[in-house]
Amino acid sequence: MTPFSLHGIGVSHGIAIGKAYLISNALLEVVEYDIDIKNIPHEIQRFDDAIATVKNELNKIKSELPSNAPAELSAFIDTHIMILNDKSLSLLPKLTIENEKCNAEWAIKKQMDSVVNQFDQIEDLYLRERKQDIIQVVERVIKILLGHSNQITVKNKEKLSILVAHDISPADALHFKNHKYAAFITDGGGITSHTAILARSLNIPSIVGLQNSRALIRDNDLIIVDGTQGVVVVNPSIEIQKYYKKLQDSWDYEQEKLQYIKKKKAVTKDGASINLFANIEVPNDVVSVHASGASGIGLFRTEFLFMNRRDMPDEEEQFRAYKNVAEAMNKKPVIIRTLDSGADKQTALDNKKIGANPALGLRAIRLCLSEPKVFLTQLRAILRASQFGNIKILFPMLTNIGELRQTKLILERAKASLRKDKIKFNEKISIGGMIEIPAAAISADIFAQELDFLSIGTNDLIQYTLAIDRTDDLVSHLYNPLHPAVLKLIALTVKSAHKYKKSIAICGEMAGEPKLTKLLIGMGVEQLSMHPSHILRVKQQVLNSSIKKMKASVIKLLNLNEVDKIETLLKKINQST
Ligand code: PEP
Ligand code: MG
Repeated sequence: MTPFSLHGIGVSHGIAIGKAYLISNALLEVVEYDIDIKNIPHEIQRFDDAIATVKNELNKIKSELPSNAPAELSAFIDTHIMILNDKSLSLLPKLTIENEKCNAEWAIKKQMDSVVNQFDQIEDLYLRERKQDIIQVVERVIKILLGHSNQITVKNKEKLSILVAHDISPADALHFKNHKYAAFITDGGGITSHTAILARSLNIPSIVGLQNSRALIRDNDLIIVDGTQGVVVVNPSIEIQKYYKKLQDSWDYEQEKLQYIKKKKAVTKDGASINLFANIEVPNDVVSVHASGASGIGLFRTEFLFMNRRDMPDEEEQFRAYKNVAEAMNKKPVIIRTLDSGADKQTALDNKKIGANPALGLRAIRLCLSEPKVFLTQLRAILRASQFGNIKILFPMLTNIGELRQTKLILERAKASLRKDKIKFNEKISIGGMIEIPAAAISADIFAQELDFLSIGTNDLIQYTLAIDRTDDLVSHLYNPLHPAVLKLIALTVKSAHKYKKSIAICGEMAGEPKLTKLLIGMGVEQLSMHPSHILRVKQQVLNSSIKKMKASVIKLLNLNEVDKIETLLKKINQST
């Protein structure tokens, strides 16, 4: 068999070699047939029974979630139950059965196509990707109607199976936890899809956005998944297998070896201490923060508390979430970022406020300033929680100093209202700003004067500097952290923070990329905040660096204007110790 390769978006690193297991696509099997008028009640009953079965299945999966399951799973299953309860899926197909005298499978698929069609008209990528949730739910119902099972059969629970799917629902992804699949790859899903989010928290090599893998790969084909490069090799020759086996062994060995440095302090060879912090989305992520050896939380993305629901979490609910995290971190710093809603992270707050170009629209701090009540509630909750640990507040997407001053006024109002209510909080709570818009980086010295710390959000900084939608895989090849303009903006921000003796962090994906660690700390960044699974690899780089020795090369690199030259010099810096 001729080997061939496929390319997608690697969303979780590592290498897996195993047999392909194709998850069937029930949607493709649906055909339309007529139902005799007298059999319509029976067909409707069959439909109701299938919906009830899937609901039971989902509730059962939720109740049996292992305690170490990623917190997102429960929320995803809730979303699927919510979709199933929506009358457009649970009621309208019954009318179609009645009116068109057709089979239940056809009726629900027809309804799904119409809903999905509406989603396709939505410009926002995050919302568009949510249509996959609807498809996954309908697929479960159709499988039941067709007499298939939604369980993955025992024969396929082999340890080395690699799941190949159109898309994998979060409920199906649960099997990974229990049966340790080697990897998974999907045709659909962008970088912000649920599949990608789950992949990262499950820590097995994964690739999304392969487009044609299900059509080109057959059951039991031998495949190699390189989650680091986003490459799948199908039917590899013995030589290719040997090559990847070696890579895999050295990856596994590295992972084991890294555990030895878990308790070590992140200090460079010439004595500079670097804070390696973790990014979290929900309070339960604290478990993986502890496992990673991170010395604090550098970014708590609070918008995840607001997602997958129609209402807003009230002050009490938010207070409990922030307090739990602060207490669990036991006096270690917890940087809580205020609501960064909008663009690819939609919450109920965005419903009425989605502009033509959401990434440039009313999002993050702009949205909060336009909804002072919501903002005040969150600030009160954070301030109340500040009594229970080492909490700092971080404001996202600042563009101009007026915005910051307005934000500080609302913070003062929140403080005053707590004083009035005789509720204690940390009066000296530190406040920081995210530098993630070029305008803010260019005027970072003004922000540095009015804030306690700065944190560079490189994900958005790159997006806005290079005019590349960070969620659009069509331009992802142009999304380059080493673009000289990006590096210059980071350098400028670091310089401004140092000038006013304020601490400077990076909390975008660049912070978790070991190839960039030496460069960033060589530029003077003191704190790197990343997904917990990246901490040890980054720490290894820190332990291996000498800032003094790198200084001249880093200055030289920042003066280069071509990416190739930057890459060549970076390689040299990374080889030096
Ligand atoms: C960033 O933009 O780099 C960042 C950390 O924030 P988010 O990824 O949540 O937009
Ligand atoms: Mg951002």
